[in-house]
Amino acid sequence: MGAERAEVYGSRENYGLVLCRHCNEIIDTLPTNGVKKLYSLCDSERCRSLQAVPSDIGEEPA
Ligand SMILES: [Zn+2]
Repeated sequence: MGAERAEVYGSRENYGLVLCRHCNEIIDTLPTNGVKKLYSLCDSERCRSLQAVPSDIGEEPA
């Protein structure tokens, strides 16, 4: 009994990656249908300082 195994490892090819746009660090993974790549920002001070450059077209909500 208790022979059930987690199916997590059976679907490793179908997940989304959240990468840092500056250093490509894998920040997180998401259970999605198909492989997806999302870009975000990691906790590195280096990346955060890069992100702080006020030069992009503003896309802030309000
Ligand atoms: Zn980073």
